[in-house]
Amino acid sequence: MSYQKVKGTLDFYGESSRKIRYVENKVRNIVKNYGFEEIITPIFEHTEVFVRSVGDSSDIVNKEMYTFTDKSDRSITLRPEGTAAVARCFVENKLYSTPEVKKYFYCGPMFRYERPQAGRYRQFNQFGIEVFGDSSPFLDTEVIVSAYRVFKALGIENIKLKINTIGDFKSRQDYAIALHDYFEKHLDSLCSDCKNRYEKNPMRILDCKVDRNSEVLLNAPKIKDFLTDESKEYFNKILKSLDVLKIPYETDESLVRGLDYYTDTVFEFVISGNSELNGLAICAGGKYAELIKGFGGPDIPGVGYAFGLERIVSVMEKNSLFPNLVNAVDVVIISLDEDSKIESLKIANELRDLGFNIDLDYKNFSFKPQFKLADRDKCKYIMIIGEEERKSGIYTIKDVLNKTEDKLSYDEIVKKLYN
Ligand code: ATP
Ligand code: MG
Repeated sequence: MSYQKVKGTLDFYGESSRKIRYVENKVRNIVKNYGFEEIITPIFEHTEVFVRSVGDSSDIVNKEMYTFTDKSDRSITLRPEGTAAVARCFVENKLYSTPEVKKYFYCGPMFRYERPQAGRYRQFNQFGIEVFGDSSPFLDTEVIVSAYRVFKALGIENIKLKINTIGDFKSRQDYAIALHDYFEKHLDSLCSDCKNRYEKNPMRILDCKVDRNSEVLLNAPKIKDFLTDESKEYFNKILKSLDVLKIPYETDESLVRGLDYYTDTVFEFVISGNSELNGLAICAGGKYAELIKGFGGPDIPGVGYAFGLERIVSVMEKNSLFPNLVNAVDVVIISLDEDSKIESLKIANELRDLGFNIDLDYKNFSFKPQFKLADRDKCKYIMIIGEEERKSGIYTIKDVLNKTEDKLSYDEIVKKLYN
């Protein structure tokens, strides 16, 4: 019997685990400068949390959720995305009880039953932020800029920011009626999923991956003709501030996003260039005015986004953007008898307490295998402990790169390592 990982999942080890943690740590550091604090919610929730917020006309709820009944007959879903869970937590714990704007970030695995392919997995990692409390176009701008800064810091250049407004509640109501009337005449040419969307939420049709470039979709009514003056003004202020901040963007009328809870601002950072990842979103988000209220909370708006960490790693690999991520070994300690081996354990831990990376062989007393380990580790120094060194407290230390050798006390070795 051979065991294999579940289709659409990934193992991370060696280089790949270092890379994904490198990206995560970079993003953590940047969003901290914006005052975001980590929020950690369970990996599973009551299924209703996602159905009510993401929406039952979305692909996520319709086709992609890992839902199961637990032993007490509760319907449970592995989180397919982060916003709904964070909003649920925000309301349940009354985190709105003080008036200031609340800024959170989260990071962790999400689960979606999708067809696995490049950049699309069944378990993947998202890094997301959510801001609750203010409705201001400039807050939306600040959120978008924080994502842009992340890409800058990672060195990623071949991406495009696409932005659109899907209007406020009133704009969307009028637009939904117009879309309904329009698609009624073209039902025959829509895919079977879109026929379903037509019934539940015709705006979802615009997000269809099958029909996306068909004549019928391209000629559909456009949201811009249905926007209220407030929504228009809100959007224009975002665009104006992005111009001032010199953040390049493209407005994209067909961008509606796959989740139901968005209002007004929606945006995506999309991978450009000619790899198989071309056109995939690497970060997506928007504003949601109704979500907190929908969970039984006060009338407080939110805005946020999520990055797909695996997609960021792929783009960075394609463009050779990773630095050398090997955690370099400073010293390999070689010991020549049992008492020296014990002494080397003691010294290794003392040096590690000072922040140095120390490796040693646990089994061998002869030189050959221990020098081999030093070679594999590509360490900077080799320290040798035998009976003589133990007794005198003066150790042999070899500088591997410069090919020099010294006899030094422990304190002198520490000094050398600090230099
Ligand atoms: P797509 O249109 O590619 O299906 P989406 O609209 O479903 O994306 P979101 O729900 O907005 O994506 O998720 C935010 C980000 O999470 C995406 O931009 C992407 O980087 C990443 N992501 C989404 N689904 C997957 C997946 N199945 N595998 C890997 N990353 C994913
Ligand atoms: Mg999707």
